[in-house]
Amino acid sequence: MSGLVVVGSGPAALAAAQAYRESDGDGPVTMITEDVHPPYARPPLTKDYLRGADELDDLWLRDDGWFEDNLVTLTTGTRVTGIDPEARRVSTGGAQEVGYADLVLATGSSPQPLPVPGGDHPDLVYVRDLASGRRLRQIAEQPSGRVVVIGSGFIGCEAAASFATQGVETVLVTDEDIPHTRRLGAEAGKRIADWLRTDGVDLHTGSALAMIERTGHRWALRLDDDTMIDAAHVVCAGGARPRLELAETAGLALANGGVVADSLLRTSVAHIRVAGDIAYARNVAAGRPLRVEHWGDAETQGEIAGAGVAGRQLQWASAPGFWSTIGDRTLKYSSWGDGFDDYEVRGDDRSWTVWYRQGTQLAGVLSYRDDDAYELGQGLLAERAPYAQAIDEVDR
Ligand SMILES: Cc1cc2nc3c(=O)[nH]c(=O)nc-3n(C[C@H](O)[C@H](O)[C@H](O)COP(=O)(O)OP(=O)(O)OC[C@H]3O[C@@H](n4cnc5c(N)ncnc54)[C@H](O)[C@@H]3O)c2cc1C
Repeated sequence: MSGLVVVGSGPAALAAAQAYRESDGDGPVTMITEDVHPPYARPPLTKDYLRGADELDDLWLRDDGWFEDNLVTLTTGTRVTGIDPEARRVSTGGAQEVGYADLVLATGSSPQPLPVPGGDHPDLVYVRDLASGRRLRQIAEQPSGRVVVIGSGFIGCEAAASFATQGVETVLVTDEDIPHTRRLGAEAGKRIADWLRTDGVDLHTGSALAMIERTGHRWALRLDDDTMIDAAHVVCAGGARPRLELAETAGLALANGGVVADSLLRTSVAHIRVAGDIAYARNVAAGRPLRVEHWGDAETQGEIAGAGVAGRQLQWASAPGFWSTIGDRTLKYSSWGDGFDDYEVRGDDRSWTVWYRQGTQLAGVLSYRDDDAYELGQGLLAERAPYAQAIDEVDR
């Protein structure tokens, strides 16, 4: 039994393998991924790659030489189907097994299926992997009619704005009255809705999808207000859910939709760490466990997990955050991700920041074209600054 096995090939998995090596871990490293491709960037799939500003070659996170140079064996197209924590082995179907001294699970998320009749049709584009990104790109290049995007989260808004700015007739359907209200509040949501309309997206808000039907090469969508929409393509962006199947088979403690971990990303089972979208890990700065679905935090957690296996103790202590680009506008958002009671907005249409309060504490910062405010907010969050102190500093 020796070495590190990493399950997954997203940012968390890759960072774990790299940090293990950079922390002088000298055992064999094996990365096993169901994905048929070597590690690639997901964020551009709804942004620059969809719009044709990035090509496939811009997406790869490492070149082939990196795996060789770092003695990392990458096994693609292979699903890990079970873990035996006693014997310290993972199985990959059939009789194939791989032993480990330490295991990092970074299985990420999969798209939430649309819970309506027709929501499982294979021609729907559920946005997650490179194959789905390629379909988005093809649609943008040869639209052959209207695209309907379902869901007004970041992925839905990004994809809709990207299509519309490419000249594709685009409808965004959401059950929210204003996009993003649940996560960011109505004020930010209204601004995002205005951007989408300016980019040419036809917003259909306040009605949920009720049914999808395929007729020949077209789609018929019925909403719960009985509106019918005809489409050439349907893009599903109704959220993601963490892939916990493997964690469950290993008997790892689960809570709040994720794998319970301490701030070093150690799970309830010896020699198994976790990182990325599936982790419900203690964040030292927040003083409580959090589950977040952000690229940068997946990398940070992977680094902590991989370094930890090699004996270098790091802790998850930074305020979580991510960027989203809608059309040509980049939003930067940092928060604990578990809600807010109230917020205040500063700035004007050209540049603005939303400050979120939960109880007496600062709970988050959302900023458009004000990097100073964003950085100040991230720092204050990490210090667990009271909200009043944060607003004082902002207004000073
Ligand atoms: C289109 C898109 C745009 C995004 N844009 C942004 C953005 O702008 N900013 C941001 O912060 N975040 C963004 N995100 C979210 C971000 O990509 C995720 O938070 C991040 O990828 C999570 O990383 P991860 O390593 O935990 O998992 P993932 O990246 O999901 O990787 C998990 C990997 O594990 C593999 N796997 C799963 N189960 C198994 C198994 N049993 N056996 C073997 N392999 C398995 C999967 O095939 C996959 O390759 C975006 C996501 C998408 C889909």
